[in-house]
Amino acid sequence: MKCKLCNQEKKLIQAHIIPKSFHAPLKEEGQTPIIITSKDGVYPKRSQTGVYDVEIVCEDCEKMFSPWDDYGNKFLFQELHDENYVVSNGERIAYNFGLCDYKKLKLFFISILWRASVSNQNMFGRVQLGSYEKKLKKLVLSNNPGDIEDFSVALSKFDAPANETGILNPDRTRYDGVIHYRLYLGGYMAIIKVSSQPTPKCFQGLYLAPEQNVFFIVREFKQSKEYAAMVYTAKNARNPSSV
Ligand SMILES: [Zn+2]
Repeated sequence: MKCKLCNQEKKLIQAHIIPKSFHAPLKEEGQTPIIITSKDGVYPKRSQTGVYDVEIVCEDCEKMFSPWDDYGNKFLFQELHDENYVVSNGERIAYNFGLCDYKKLKLFFISILWRASVSNQNMFGRVQLGSYEKKLKKLVLSNNPGDIEDFSVALSKFDAPANETGILNPDRTRYDGVIHYRLYLGGYMAIIKVSSQPTPKCFQGLYLAPEQNVFFIVREFKQSKEYAAMVYTAKNARNPSSV
């Protein structure tokens, strides 16, 4: 079969779309719930092995994902420290991770989006990138995270523990009219811009960028003017002492 990444005729392997590590912490509580929403409603599906697809990539291509998946896992599951929360009016509004390896973290998120887009699994049915799939594949194949405006990524995290939120299937929405996909990973929600329009002003400062602190916001992304003030507060708060 033909590998969807390198286009070569090769034996395809069981490739994880949602990395296995994102199931491990959930498994301690029993089985991993995967919540699938479809036109027919919402139904839970159990998974012991993560979400994988045997029809997308060869072994060599899957190996490209490993360092990104390892880094994403380490980054998102790092211990959170109270002093790194950004508090406004007594309320936690964001968390400042400090700096990250932009290349690895960005490729982690956007390569998951690519994997989801080429998978025929039900769970990823809503990931339809159209002409952006080629552009994304090019970045992934060339180990290139793109610049801030290419498939821009921002993070949020709700207070509910990961074992309550489970893993939701990715979906598409618009923020200030700009199309984004939402990926749900280990209690985080990552939004990825799939559009040639500029990133919405209200979230500027939250998207991953080289040499910039990484934040997650402690709330849902909404189309709201309050973000500008929030981002300003977050970015001007004391930087975390340790990264
Ligand atoms: Zn390949």
